Amino acid sequence: MPELPEVETTLQGISPHIKKQRVNKVIIRQPKLRWPIPADLPQLIEQQILTSLSRRAKYLLLHFNTGTLLIHLGMSGSIRIIAAGTVAAKHDHFELEFTHQKSIRLTDPRRFGAVLWLGKEPYQHPLLSKLGPEPLSTSLTGDYLYQKSKDKKVSIKQFIMNQVIVTGIGNIYCAEALFLAGISPTRAAGNISLKRYQILVAQIKKTLDLAIAQGGTSLRDFVGSDGKPGYFKQELSVYGRTGLPCKQCNKALTEIKQAQRTTVYCTHCQT
Ligand SMILES: [Zn+2]
Repeated sequence: MPELPEVETTLQGISPHIKKQRVNKVIIRQPKLRWPIPADLPQLIEQQILTSLSRRAKYLLLHFNTGTLLIHLGMSGSIRIIAAGTVAAKHDHFELEFTHQKSIRLTDPRRFGAVLWLGKEPYQHPLLSKLGPEPLSTSLTGDYLYQKSKDKKVSIKQFIMNQVIVTGIGNIYCAEALFLAGISPTRAAGNISLKRYQILVAQIKKTLDLAIAQGGTSLRDFVGSDGKPGYFKQELSVYGRTGLPCKQCNKALTEIKQAQRTTVYCTHCQT
């Protein structure tokens, strides 16, 4: 599933190609994504200039003078830049064609992604209005998490994956940051010291920054109709390594389920 670094890399990959360009045509081949793509989208953005692009949590936001378009990659979505008129494949559900003959195309085999019109007050939309601070912003600090965690019995894993507490930390980067901070994913959020939260926040930022930097090397993958999406394999310490030796102590890593999601960790190094 695309996580925050993939979405940020997508943003950085597509922006230079389409920013300040005029939309020529909205092409909706399959409107049934997680929610229906609004049928009046052509009237709203055709012949409008895409003034800027941004990211909030795992949502891509395309800003026009008439309002903001939200794109979410869901479980399996990806966006590429292609030449306008390139023949569409089976899962190419949505496309914005610009007047300079480039298009952005959303491919999403499982159709859990979304294309939604948020109007002129995008941050008031229910999908965005309740989100916590961005993990890479200065608003996320150890002190912030420590204050929010007081008396919380929920596990630290579920606590930092709660989008109201902090946005955009998915299963992979949560597992990595907890490992690097030496914190057990099962520990109650309210039972972690300020000092440990400071270490955890530093590791969250470091892990995400590194993933974005590694993704940056594959930006060229966003261009060309036959290139793979720019998601990247990277050196992960715990995620996907159940039973393999811990990189710090060599003991086998343990897998558990927390809120129906897999967690891999080292019972020796993470306490
Ligand atoms: Zn270990």
